Amino acid sequence: MITRRTLMATGTLGAAALGLPRMAFAAEQADVVIIGAGLSGLHSAQLLSGLGMRVVVLEAGGRVGGRVHTVETAEGPIDVGASQIGRSYARVLDAVRRHDLRLVPEDRDLLPFAAHFQDTWFDPADWANNPLNKTVGEERTINPILLGQVVSARHNPLKEVDDWLDPRFARDDISLRQLMEREGYSPAAIELAKISVPGIGIDETSMLRMWQEATRGGIDHRTEQAPTAAKRNQPFGETNDRNLVDGLASINNIAGGCQQLPLAMAARLGDAVRLNQQVVRIAMSDTGATVSCRDGSSYTARFVISAVPFSVLRGIAIEATRDNPIQRQAITSMPYANTARLYLHVERPFWKEDGLPASFSTDGPIGMFWGIDNHSGEGVHRAMVVMVGKVAEAISRMDHEDAEAFVQRELVRLRPAAKGLLRYQTYKDWARDPLQLGCGFSLAPGQVNAFGRTMTDPWQVLHFAGEHTRRLDFGMEAAMESGERVAVEIGERA
Ligand SMILES: Cc1cc2nc3c(=O)[nH]c(=O)nc-3n(C[C@H](O)[C@H](O)[C@H](O)COP(=O)(O)OP(=O)(O)OC[C@H]3O[C@@H](n4cnc5c(N)ncnc54)[C@H](O)[C@@H]3O)c2cc1C
Repeated sequence: MITRRTLMATGTLGAAALGLPRMAFAAEQADVVIIGAGLSGLHSAQLLSGLGMRVVVLEAGGRVGGRVHTVETAEGPIDVGASQIGRSYARVLDAVRRHDLRLVPEDRDLLPFAAHFQDTWFDPADWANNPLNKTVGEERTINPILLGQVVSARHNPLKEVDDWLDPRFARDDISLRQLMEREGYSPAAIELAKISVPGIGIDETSMLRMWQEATRGGIDHRTEQAPTAAKRNQPFGETNDRNLVDGLASINNIAGGCQQLPLAMAARLGDAVRLNQQVVRIAMSDTGATVSCRDGSSYTARFVISAVPFSVLRGIAIEATRDNPIQRQAITSMPYANTARLYLHVERPFWKEDGLPASFSTDGPIGMFWGIDNHSGEGVHRAMVVMVGKVAEAISRMDHEDAEAFVQRELVRLRPAAKGLLRYQTYKDWARDPLQLGCGFSLAPGQVNAFGRTMTDPWQVLHFAGEHTRRLDFGMEAAMESGERVAVEIGERA
């Protein structure tokens, strides 16, 4: 029997996959067809080919990496998807080392935040005395731009990273609004939570989904050397502890951009990775499957791995000799969150001119502006407009160019001192990418109970990988976790 231990012992890549001529993989028949060349698909491909299996990875796009995407700009590479690698990312760190890539401590400390609410600027530290503050009692002291996150963290009952799947917590498969009502928060606090809710929105995401991520994130924070809790009093806690432990900061980037990792992984797989092969159909029985692509090519295999998000898998026809209503429900109804980001150069620190803190959070249509420290205080800075949740959903309904122009206009409307000082670097809206249709999975209230616990079970010969099939991890590490899980599942059946 093949277990996780056996896989680890073989290393991720056997000689079978190295340097073989294209003909070795050109047959339309394979042991395993893997759909999607993101980290989950590539990791499972490496593990399975390390076990001597013939794998083919079909990637719809012209590049590998999926949500790991480095864009070259005049100022150098910018990661518009994943970039941050924590100290506790065991699998990602292992892959970085195996592929001889170099890590550098992330240098993206955020400058302090102002708050902009109901078209008024205010200091979050003085919020308790602000007449706009309609919350009551102790709620009045909670920083309004963090309220949703603070409430979520305060009531998180999970201790272990897999507790979210434990039926003991079934009653918590509810929205943030339902949680706040249950815990007796005022209507004004519930209203405020809308601007800082983790997940898609106050009604759309299950607390169990949010707490899974928060509980796993807590492990990363525990690996920090210097306590940065005070500095972390800002959205997303984007401060880095650069005290190196075993050569690692608390947040690390890959030199040259994060996409170096999937590129290196794909290079070792050689011709097993086929670009521009968009899968449109999977026809399967209990003993095998045929996978068809838009260009008419098809592949037969004993096993198939879906390593694409459910947002795109629902567009692929799945014909099965045995239906699986639970899987179908998961594939068709799992919601996806969005992130859209505008990356900017700031020619001069305009915040010195208007006197407001550099970064800000707003209840208006652009969400958040992150001013990034350049450690001199003077001269050119980097900045990002970060749109998540409902803000990002609304932005992605606009045409791409309109959205970019709108964001820049709105920024200058809010901060006139920024006029003429913002230079465009790049823009990425993940919901508008047809091969992603969102930045990450969500689970609606009730969906952990409905299918969250069983949705990763294989359906005939179809196995499910991808960050959305995580059990324990988050981010890139979740993608790698899932690649490992499906490799073990298939190894045990082969
Ligand atoms: C803006 C943003 C920032 C992030 N930041 C971080 C971070 O700092 N740290 C971190 O750890 N994680 C981060 N993440 C999360 C991380 O990027 C993902 O968890 C991980 O990359 C997902 O990998 P995956 O293999 O599950 O899916 P994907 O990367 O989505 O791979 C799926 C692949 O399938 C392909 N595909 C789609 N349709 C088809 C089809 N029909 N046929 C064939 N192929 C198809 C796609 O082109 C894609 O290559 C971030 C994500 C985003 C969007």
